[in-house]
Amino acid sequence: MPTLRKPEETLVAGGVKLLEAPVTIRQTVARDADKCPRRAVLSHRFGLTPKARRYNSNLHTGSVTHAILAAHYTERPDPEQAGIDLYDAEMAHFSALAEDDLEGTFDKALKSLDKDTKLGVAIARMFWKLYPLNRKTHKVVGTEVQLTAEIKLGAVDSVGVTAVLSGTLDVLLEPLTGPVAGGVFVADHKTTARNPHDLVGGLEWAYQTRIYRVLAARNLGRKIAGFIYNFIQKPAIRFCGKDKGVFDNYVNRCWEWFEDEKRDMKPATSFGFMFNEPLVAPGFEQDLRRLGYWMCHDFCHEEEGALNGFPLYLFPRRWADCYKCPFKILCDASTTEWGRIIKAHYTQDFTGYADAEEKGMVLDEFSR
Ligand code: SF4
Repeated sequence: MPTLRKPEETLVAGGVKLLEAPVTIRQTVARDADKCPRRAVLSHRFGLTPKARRYNSNLHTGSVTHAILAAHYTERPDPEQAGIDLYDAEMAHFSALAEDDLEGTFDKALKSLDKDTKLGVAIARMFWKLYPLNRKTHKVVGTEVQLTAEIKLGAVDSVGVTAVLSGTLDVLLEPLTGPVAGGVFVADHKTTARNPHDLVGGLEWAYQTRIYRVLAARNLGRKIAGFIYNFIQKPAIRFCGKDKGVFDNYVNRCWEWFEDEKRDMKPATSFGFMFNEPLVAPGFEQDLRRLGYWMCHDFCHEEEGALNGFPLYLFPRRWADCYKCPFKILCDASTTEWGRIIKAHYTQDFTGYADAEEKGMVLDEFSR
């Protein structure tokens, strides 16, 4: 198992001490760094997280659907209970916050939590009805599989780079018949309100596809035949008075919604493709080299830099939806102000949102 240096303290201009550590390259890290390296380092290497975690409707719905499908694949007796367990955990979290919440932010979260959970359960049920697993033709190798892999790459700025990749793979499936029997497919679920036909183009060479393929190949030691993306559509209707308090009525209305409103779309669409490029193709290797340098390299803390030792200047700022970036307040300020701002607005969290986001698979917005 690859290891990275443990977080170490770095003194930020303004007198605040932060933990800083190289991180593994997950698909969210790669995507964030692609859009803005500065954002990626603040979010992932420094783990800076806004103090007030906002409730994210899309994220919760996606997490509920993922949990239920994982329970179906592993033949748990009551799969939908997995979604209710997530509801209970979020309810406990936001109820505790709501007590001191003068602006009513968390009260609003509590109001939409029930409807978002029901939506997540309804779309999981619809997906499983359309795409139940045929256990005579496919075997489940694993669900929610957490993997890491280390790759040695060429140098950046004369420094040799080792990238450590990581990710949580939704499902690994082994076909039992046909030309690739004995190989493995990586399958991933995405919940979205957008047309899957618009989203699927280019996913074959997306960071996620390539990183997950390397992770599976390195850890399983078997032929990774291809990738399956399951798009699960969210209907634009919520549980309401029309359902007369009966959840099955809501699921029936969701089916009707697709028939009446979206004749060109189904509640779920599955796309698969076979791999026909090298495992680490030259263009991907180039991307990984820069990413590995930014995210995995142990920078010398003696260097002079904006953050007393950490070479922040190596991470360029790029305009990337700055208006909704959680670090805009830092980017707009002089680094001499950073200590005060960080103390007031952020905590450090190396485990939280990004991992959850990967599980939730939010495709409807940039992130956060
Ligand atoms: S505000 Fe803009 S430039 Fe600054 S970290 Fe965020 S995305 Fe990057």
